[in-house]
Amino acid sequence: MIRVGDVLVSKGEGGVYGERMLDGYRVWDPYRSKLAALYLTGRGIDLTPGMKVLYLGAANGTTVSHVADYVEVVYAVEFAPRPMQDLLEVARRRTNVMPIMADASCPERYAPLVETVDLLYQDVAQPDQAAIALRNCAFLKPGGQLILMLKTRSVDIRKEPAEVFQDTLDSLMSAGITVTESTWLAPYHQDHAAIVGTLEHSVLGTDHA
Ligand code: SAM
Repeated sequence: MIRVGDVLVSKGEGGVYGERMLDGYRVWDPYRSKLAALYLTGRGIDLTPGMKVLYLGAANGTTVSHVADYVEVVYAVEFAPRPMQDLLEVARRRTNVMPIMADASCPERYAPLVETVDLLYQDVAQPDQAAIALRNCAFLKPGGQLILMLKTRSVDIRKEPAEVFQDTLDSLMSAGITVTESTWLAPYHQDHAAIVGTLEHSVLGTDHA
């Protein structure tokens, strides 16, 4: 990952969401992006030029645009029409962003549009976040990696965030994900955690969902 001093940045055309530029690089704001927060609070996964990424919960394309600055291609799934309009603009300016308007809980609907990927990144505030991630692991190549941004309050507002975090870790591990890192994203994002894992061997089946 590229840093200018302590500042996380990416190399690409600016002006996507009013981000600052520093020495010609785009500043990647951890308050605007949970992935940037992960790189600052934990380790995360190095994004490399040959990587293919499936990104669930693309929203306006803020984080998508930074990821696209690092990798070969980003398949960006979003189901809400308003952010999709902004995402389309990001895709117009970054030819390696493939916008897909679809519900991430129904991966079979976009399976024809997505190839096997190296990294599955998920940031959807839904009650069944672990189940959505596991369904989409069908797109991961063996040894592929998962980053799940968990919004604990969307899973169950009555449960303690730590309990939701542990339940989610248990669900992922019992489905064959080896968790390599798990961390809260405070002080940048409250009640949000990041879970990083590897799909060692597919117990999920090799066919697309
Ligand atoms: N990842 C974005 C970023 O860092 O720039 C922010 C994502 S925002 C917290 C969550 C997004 O997920 C929203 O735009 C929402 O519409 C989308 N979303 C929620 N559930 C979804 C689903 N089942 N399928 C597709 N998109 C979904």
